[in-house]
Amino acid sequence: MHVEIDDVRLTRPHDPVETAAELTGEAVAALERRGKYLLVRFESGRVLLIHLRMTGSLLLLRDGTAIDDPYRRAVVRLDNGSDIAYRDVRRFGTWLLLEPGELDPYLASRVGPEVLNRRFSAQALQATVKRRKAPIKAVLLDQRVYAGVGNIYADEALWWSRIHPLRPAASLDRPELQELLRGVRKALRHGIARQGATLRDYRGADGRAGSMQREFRAYGRAGEPCTRCGTPIEKTRAGGRGTWYCPTCQL
Ligand SMILES: [Zn+2]
Repeated sequence: MHVEIDDVRLTRPHDPVETAAELTGEAVAALERRGKYLLVRFESGRVLLIHLRMTGSLLLLRDGTAIDDPYRRAVVRLDNGSDIAYRDVRRFGTWLLLEPGELDPYLASRVGPEVLNRRFSAQALQATVKRRKAPIKAVLLDQRVYAGVGNIYADEALWWSRIHPLRPAASLDRPELQELLRGVRKALRHGIARQGATLRDYRGADGRAGSMQREFRAYGRAGEPCTRCGTPIEKTRAGGRGTWYCPTCQL
């Protein structure tokens, strides 16, 4: 593959031209996800760690990059002639090239267990949250506790499990944590099945918008009726983020 990177912020603190030169000639062995990171594993043992942040997206262009796009930050030309364009309106996304052996130590301090992993139990969650006085919503957003739950899915999970977002994490008992875990998995599976939520201009790799946002139960629905009890959804803040919940059925 051949790589061009046109944005100094994408590879900071590394030089984008240098990173592009390092990537050129690599052969992709596998694609994986850990938490919110996309992992591109190369046959050399190196790994490119991509974080899309708010507005990053990858677009597959089978006939090359014909369309002019002011938000394109990088282009990967594959040996089969197709291009993968990386576009990012707000430029918070990052690309980090790691040498063999660097991945596990890098992720260990940043990414907790995968919540979709069946082995992750309510018991394990209780051990983590029992000393945390912070609101459960803030703890859910901490990627070192739970990997892969962002602001939208935290609100949705709390709605499904009928737990108030501002409850101190340590106050949740085992059955409630069990419900919460079920809620998180339900919210994430819903999202994955519908190709994610489209906020502003996010597009999937096929260029189409996701449809998840039409099915939110709590997130972004201030003033609209709760689909379970009819009470208007309210908005507050938790963990520094906008937080939506039903004041009647989330306790
Ligand atoms: Zn309700």
